Amino acid sequence: KGLKKYFPITGGLLRKTVGYVKAVDGVDLFIKRAETLGLVGESGCGKSTLGRAILRLIDATEGEITYNGQNILELTKEEMRELRKKMQIIFQDPYASLNPRMTVGDIVGEPMDIFGLAKGREKEERILELLNIVGLDVQHIRRYPHEFSGGQRQRIGIARALAVNPEIIICDEPVSALDVSVRSQVLNLMQELQQKFQLTYLFISHDLSVVKHISDRVCVMYLGKIVEVSEKNELYSNPLHPYTKALLSAIPIPDPEAKRERIILEGDVPTPINPPTGCRFHTRCQYAMPVCSQQEPILKDIGNEHFVACHLY
Ligand code: SF4
Ligand code: MG
Repeated sequence: KGLKKYFPITGGLLRKTVGYVKAVDGVDLFIKRAETLGLVGESGCGKSTLGRAILRLIDATEGEITYNGQNILELTKEEMRELRKKMQIIFQDPYASLNPRMTVGDIVGEPMDIFGLAKGREKEERILELLNIVGLDVQHIRRYPHEFSGGQRQRIGIARALAVNPEIIICDEPVSALDVSVRSQVLNLMQELQQKFQLTYLFISHDLSVVKHISDRVCVMYLGKIVEVSEKNELYSNPLHPYTKALLSAIPIPDPEAKRERIILEGDVPTPINPPTGCRFHTRCQYAMPVCSQQEPILKDIGNEHFVACHLY
């Protein structure tokens, strides 16, 4: 609720703060248990920052994050440590996030050491079980990350995240670095695991077709703000925000006969240091009205949990 993350910019000899990158600038959002909430937007819109702030991997500047009724920004270090087990993250580049000097077994077992969950024989059995769950050959336990393909490495990353029996996983572009041919395999695996363990996902991606595949609801972000949130099919068939419409119009449609107007977004994404006044999208919006540069539209529920922040509605 009202979540903000500002990164200070320093300048001059004294390294004084001369401004802020307003990466996340007043976000209101809810995620339902065992659902997948897709979070989409162009690179630099604040998606990853939001994901990390939710897990407290970075400290929010302002706002509230409530998990099961508890404001986690008020938790002590000890309490936060307990909660960490329930919240995991999977990264875009499985190679960069796996220690190259550790074997697969050690990588998957490490979270169990950190949280004191299992040791010795029990831990070994659990590692084998996890490798099995993510579809990796248990023979691989003593191998190193570089011996695996991208898809296999992401499976290792997923096994590591599952090692602590999490409830929610922030998935930050988990298939973006993978070949198209293995993407759907990894997505299908993630869906199976969700069913099996009742996992909740916040699925971050710049790719609307990937998000469509996996999400129950989709949330669209632009320059640190949420501009639209809705149930998936509703959002893809009835996008309301002009930015969402433009993003969707850029997805190629398989049927060459189907006609759809391609909306070309003019200009670059403005800087999050000095975002435009009023509606942040007004510099690129073909429907912009005088009010748009003066007054910030608030995120409104226009029915059936379809939220949009635009003066047109
Ligand atoms: Fe466009 Fe105005 Fe709506 Fe912003 S508020 S998206 S500028 S019509
Ligand atoms: Mg990112």
